[in-house]
Amino acid sequence: MEIRKTSNASGPSTPARSETIKLLSDLIAEDTTNPPGNESRAAGVVKRFFETEGIAYRIFEKEKGRANIIGYIGKGHPRLLLACHMDVVPAGEGWDSNPFKARVDGDKIYGRGAVDNKGPLAGILMAAKTLKKVESSLHGQVIVACVADEEAGSKAGMRYLLDECGLSAEYAIVPDIEHELRKIDVAEKGLLFLKVTSFGKQAHGSAPDEGINAVWHMVEFLKLLKGYDKRMKFKKHALLSPPTLNLGIVRGGEAANIVPAKCEATIDIRYLPSQSSLAIIGDVKRMLAAVAKKNKKARFTLEVIDDQKPVAVDGGNALIGMIKKRVVEVTGKKAEIIGISGTTLIKPLAAAGVTAVGFSPGKGLAHMSNEYISLAELVHFSETIVLVCMDLLA
Ligand SMILES: [Zn+2]
Repeated sequence: MEIRKTSNASGPSTPARSETIKLLSDLIAEDTTNPPGNESRAAGVVKRFFETEGIAYRIFEKEKGRANIIGYIGKGHPRLLLACHMDVVPAGEGWDSNPFKARVDGDKIYGRGAVDNKGPLAGILMAAKTLKKVESSLHGQVIVACVADEEAGSKAGMRYLLDECGLSAEYAIVPDIEHELRKIDVAEKGLLFLKVTSFGKQAHGSAPDEGINAVWHMVEFLKLLKGYDKRMKFKKHALLSPPTLNLGIVRGGEAANIVPAKCEATIDIRYLPSQSSLAIIGDVKRMLAAVAKKNKKARFTLEVIDDQKPVAVDGGNALIGMIKKRVVEVTGKKAEIIGISGTTLIKPLAAAGVTAVGFSPGKGLAHMSNEYISLAELVHFSETIVLVCMDLLA
């Protein structure tokens, strides 16, 4: 087949910008606000696209209305997974136009999900369309995963696909970090959400000695916890900032004149690859034991709400080198490697043994009103992805 070029990069072009606009507009028009998600609506758009382009696909649905749809191009190994999420956060206030009706203004396309993550999703679909045309020359498989439930923990999305549906790959690109194609996310801090509950005994507020005040015991624990992130032992990481601790929720008591029988605190700890969640949990348990030793009536439980290991891909990995090389060819600008404190689909993928990195178009507008993406950048993104896939599956 003849391969038409639109950029200074070698390799096939991605189809026209008008097609990208149509596809992204259709995706934005399907309200997939999570909760509840309703990703099946956007999956319908993807399904029609795959069918039109002759791309084989499968649908995986953990809960009704929460479809994940996966397209497959080529076969065998290695497998490169491209993963975007179809759910969006609530539109919120402050929009200049309907967040679920795409608005094109020059190079910008506005709408909820334009950046996070339907724009990049349209980008990987357009890349898939180009790759389908050169499928017979691919040695390996490109897997295009359009997933549900990313904004609320991925239990009906990526985690379900990896844990229960047999999804696997050697490599993955997760286009969900923004940074306008200038950064490649190769490291992420670990995430540990803990819930501590203090139990006491209810009594009349005028007779506090007859009860056990669960809140005071929690206060004792929180005093010990404060500054724990500064006391942690860890090895510095070149791309990641030091570990952090956030006390996110403290909830206890019913009324001023009741001795509270229960108090809960939820803690968010972000830690480095040189640390382990087990050791951190051990430290927290020791703090709770210290409070209980001093206050004989104190009683606590500790619950691990979420525990996702840190990620650190070696900077010399072949996939990173390919992205760096191709992004310069396509955009004329360099991309550098970074680490982030937040969380993307990279963590569950890495936990499943996939070498996963983040790379995407868009600038800092995720979860904001008047979210938009640059169409030129989106087309560049598609072109870069096509070339990287062809490099890896050469
Ligand atoms: Zn996202």
